[in-house]
Amino acid sequence: METLVVDHPLVAHKLTTLRDVRTDSPTFRRLADELVTLLAYEATRDVRVTEVTVETPVSPAAGVRLAKPYPLVVPILRAGLGMLDGMTRLLPTAEVGFLGMIRNESTLKAETYATRLPDDLSGRQCYVVDPMLATGGTLAAAVQFLFDRGAVDVTAICLLAAPEGLAYMDKVFANSGKPIRVVTAALDERLNEHGYIVPGLGDAGDRLYGVV
Ligand code: URA
Repeated sequence: METLVVDHPLVAHKLTTLRDVRTDSPTFRRLADELVTLLAYEATRDVRVTEVTVETPVSPAAGVRLAKPYPLVVPILRAGLGMLDGMTRLLPTAEVGFLGMIRNESTLKAETYATRLPDDLSGRQCYVVDPMLATGGTLAAAVQFLFDRGAVDVTAICLLAAPEGLAYMDKVFANSGKPIRVVTAALDERLNEHGYIVPGLGDAGDRLYGVV
């Protein structure tokens, strides 16, 4: 598995405000949206394209367009929804599939409660968006789900990652032979006893949408 921590002053600036406990939900939503666009720019570096020629007002020009089948963006409900617009702004022709997963707070294991995805993902590049890579349980289950349906490669875009989560992903997919990338704005210190990332930013879903 490949991990990319995007090292850029604008990313660090926005992430710092996102972490700040005084940042309100509207500001948090706006910053998460802006941040995912910056991360997506790096995460889509290997997106497949086909060569085309267009006519400029002056002459033919060689260029590229996104190849079909178009990429699939998969937000993990609920918090991943806060990253969806930022992704589709950059990839307007991408299709979107939904995976509803919740972490059981006693076992810290991922449970799937909703799926709305194409049955056949053969040949598809998939971009999973989930703000927090904590234990890695949710992301590993999501990635496995996509591979089981035929996805060729999966890139996860997370605002923050914990070393424990990355190690878990490495362990689970060590022999999968499939390309997996994690792109994140920061690699934090550790998880606390409740499975929260330290220093982190708290509960991403609550900070985006309020406590339900
Ligand atoms: N999920 C969150 O929203 N925050 C964490 O720190 C860990 C998991």
